[in-house]
This record gives sequence, C-alpha cells and structure tokens, in this order.
Amino acid sequence: MDQPDLSALRERIGGTLVLDGDPGFDDARRIWNGMIDRRPVAVLRVASVDDVVAALAFAREASLSVAVRGGGHNVAGNGSVDAGLVIDLGGLASVEVDAGERTVRVGGGARLGDVDRATAEYGLAVPLGVVSRTGVAGLTLGGGVGWLLRAHGLSIDSLLSADVVTASGTLVRASARENPDLFWGLRGGGGNFGVVTSLTFRAHPIPAPVFAGNLIYRPDHWRQALLAFDEWGRTLPDELTAIATFIVPPPDWELGADPLLLVGFAWSGADAAAGEAAIEPLRREAPPDLEAIEPMTWPQWQSAVDDTFPFGVRAYWKNTSFDRLDEEVADVLVRRALEQTWQGTGFDIHLMGGAFARVPEGDTAFPARSARYWLNIYGFWANESDDADRIRFVRGFADDMAGFSSGGQYVNFMAAEDPAPAGVAPAPVYGEETLRRLGAVKASWDPDNVFRLNHNILPG
Ligand code: FAD
Repeated sequence: MDQPDLSALRERIGGTLVLDGDPGFDDARRIWNGMIDRRPVAVLRVASVDDVVAALAFAREASLSVAVRGGGHNVAGNGSVDAGLVIDLGGLASVEVDAGERTVRVGGGARLGDVDRATAEYGLAVPLGVVSRTGVAGLTLGGGVGWLLRAHGLSIDSLLSADVVTASGTLVRASARENPDLFWGLRGGGGNFGVVTSLTFRAHPIPAPVFAGNLIYRPDHWRQALLAFDEWGRTLPDELTAIATFIVPPPDWELGADPLLLVGFAWSGADAAAGEAAIEPLRREAPPDLEAIEPMTWPQWQSAVDDTFPFGVRAYWKNTSFDRLDEEVADVLVRRALEQTWQGTGFDIHLMGGAFARVPEGDTAFPARSARYWLNIYGFWANESDDADRIRFVRGFADDMAGFSSGGQYVNFMAAEDPAPAGVAPAPVYGEETLRRLGAVKASWDPDNVFRLNHNILPG
C-alpha cells in the first residue's frame, strides 16, 4: 500500500508529529503493556483541539486507522495501532479547579496525578483510580473505579460534561442537557464515540491528612480475614472504601517474598476517629499480622503503589463481578493466591456498594451496579518467556470464578480480546439492552466506526 504523505499533516498542526524512523519514534509508540508492540505510521502529539480536528480529517483522507491515546495505560493496548495514526492527547493535560463551584476541568491527556495534585490544594478530590500515572480520559470513559467508589461512585458518576471531537470533526459538548445520548454513552462506553478533549467533574471534599492504609495478613490468616471482610463490608459507612489485594510484595516494601493479603481502605470523611471506629470490627474479627497506616496527603495515598506497576511490563488481565464471598469462594481465592508466587501479578477484590450502587442501572452505560464485589486479576511480568504460563494462570483463575460471577465485566480491566467470530460482540460486557442503546449512540455519532480501537460497539 502507498504510504500517505504525512508531511501534509505536519503543515496543518501545531503539535509534534513523530514519524516511523524519526528519533524518539520507539519511545513515542510505547504503551504501558509491553506485550503489545504496535508500529503506527506516526504518533501525533497534539497541542490543541484544532490538531485533533486536523488529525481526524487527515486520517479520513488517507484512509488511516486511528488510535486515541490518553495516558497510554490501556491493558488491551488500544492506545496504539499498526500502520495507523496515533492521536496522543498527552499535551492536553491542563487542570482547572473552580474551588467555589467545586468543579474541575481536565484536559483529555491528563494523568490522575495531575488532577489529584491540583484539587488537593483546595481540599478537594475527584473519584479516580489507584495508580496516578493512568490517563484520566481512558479511565473515566470506561467507568473509573478507585478509593472514593463507595463515597462518591465511579469517576463517571462525578462527570458533569465532556468536550468531544466527533468522527465528523465537529467539537461538541456532552452533558445531561446537551447531547444527552452521547453523554450517556461516554459514561461507560469507552472511547467509542469521539476524541474527548476535556472533561469537567464534580469535586468532593477530602481531608488532609487522609485516614487510609492497609491491614496486612500472612497466608495462615487469609481465610479468616476474607470471611471477616465479607461480614464487615455489610455494615460499613459509605465514607469507607476497601479493596482486598493479594500480591507478592515488591522487595522495597521489606515484607518478605511470600504473598500477602492487604486489606486497603480509605476513609473520605473529615472525622478520622469515625474512620478508626469503622475499621475496628475487622481488626477484632481478623486481627492483622501487620498494619501500615500513616498520615498521608491525598496525592501521596493516590500514588502509593505507582512503582508497583512499572511502564512497559507485559500484561494480561481479566475481571468479573460476583456477589458471594463464602467458604467456597474463599477456597478458590486462597488457592489461587498461594499459587501466585511471583512478583507482579496480583488480584484485587473491590468492595462495591455505597454511592456506586445507588446509581440506577441504565442511568449510565456501566454494567452491574448491584454487584457486591469486583475481582480484577492483573497479571504482569517482565520476560516474554513467561507469557504462556502467566496468561494460563489468569485465564484459569478467571475460569474458576466463572461459576460465581454475577455477569459484570469492566472494559478497563480487560486485556486484548480472545478471538471471537467476526461480527459477534466479543464479550457480554454490557448486557443486551445497554448494548442496544450503545449501538444506537454509535450509529448517531460514529456510523463508520472510525473509533474502533476500544471495546468496540458496532453501530446498530
Ligand atoms: P490509553 O491507552 O491512552 O487509552 C485507552 C483507550 O481509552 C483508548 O484506546 C481510547 O479508546 C480511550 N481514550 C483514552 N483517552 C481518550 C480521549 N481523550 N478521548 C477518547 N478516547 C480516549 N482502572 C480503574 O478504573 N481504576 C484503577 O484503579 C485502575 N488502575 C490501573 C492501573 C494500571 C497500572 C493500569 C495499567 C490500568 C489501570 N486501570 C484502572 C485501567 C485503566 O482505566 C484503563 O487501562 C484505561 O484504558 C487507561 O486509560 P489511558 O488513558 O491511560 O489509556
């Protein structure tokens, strides 16, 4: 195929176009998941919304596939494309806080840490994820699960509006009042509908320091701790969000090389004593072997595990929602955690409920609001020679849990799809009715499926 004349694009943009062969091209095409090694024809680091419009027009004229990149952390590698054009939003990383209105306007290429640092200045926080280098846009468009989930819901539940360059190159605003169908689809439908150049969120008060930390359990106490976690989670105040994590600790944590269970929690209320009281029943029912709780600012807590997830590792993840955490499920979790003896791979059990569960099913495109737990198995490792073993582990574990699944899957915790027959939606992520609605939104805003590097919704 003839190479398109990319110099024509260079003349139309203010940002930087890095072509295959240019110095820095390999850096420009790298994404977090090092197992996905795609070779675009160029990476455009946009400097403005106009650059996005120019890039989409050029890609259309040159029949180039387009990948949209926010923070480059997509596990399935959707932030890059073979033989196409990457539109890298990293240059649009501004964060404007309106402390009086408690709103935050965030550029389409900002990272979570950009937002956390800016809002913390005003004692505010937006519900985002748990690793501060992740892109705000990619995380939010899929849903956004993090340490404020029970207090304020998903990231999308605090989203007030988004500015979007559509497939036709038009800049539109989506909110509850303007283009509400698009706004609905953006909240859980991933990057299917356009390039999001900015997002405006409701921000919420967060104390400084924040009462957050980990209760840590060695293998002998895992079963007791899991069953106590289940009981404890039933009466927790919404201000407390908790995640049970099984992981082999990295050497710099100085906790040995055996796998550990960490019950992490963050209390978003102003009264730390009430937070202490909220974790007391778990301490009593399942006394931890160790505790790691120290005063921290919100940005410190939000970036505490950043180094555990290094850029460029090889990765394969699977996730599911489930409702029971009884002896039978605890058996599976404990057995799999004991098998997981290498650095990297871990799994999180997110306790859902609270504000997340109060959003009616169907108000956004995010599925399974009634789920009690969400399991995310995040396999990652350094060497290619481990690919087959590690992927087998993640798949086997996910298969073990399939019988307990309540059917929810979160697009942002999914790896590249296992092959599915052409034209068949690859995984039942959304449920029939939501998928039908998403298909209709797609047909309105991207009928030619320009934005297909995502958990793809076919125009319907
Ligand atoms: P990118 O690879 O840049 O983009 C991913 C996709 O998102 C793109 O293909 C595109 O479809 C879409 N997209 C990105 N930016 C835009 C934009 N501006 N406009 C339109 N579409 C866009 N998720 C959680 O919910 N909570 C967590 O705590 C969490 N932790 C994570 C930790 C790590 C280490 C990793 C690797 C992932 C984590 N995730 C988490 C998953 C994360 O939400 C997804 O991987 C998400 O896709 C990352 O977004 P990104 O912008 O960094 O990715």
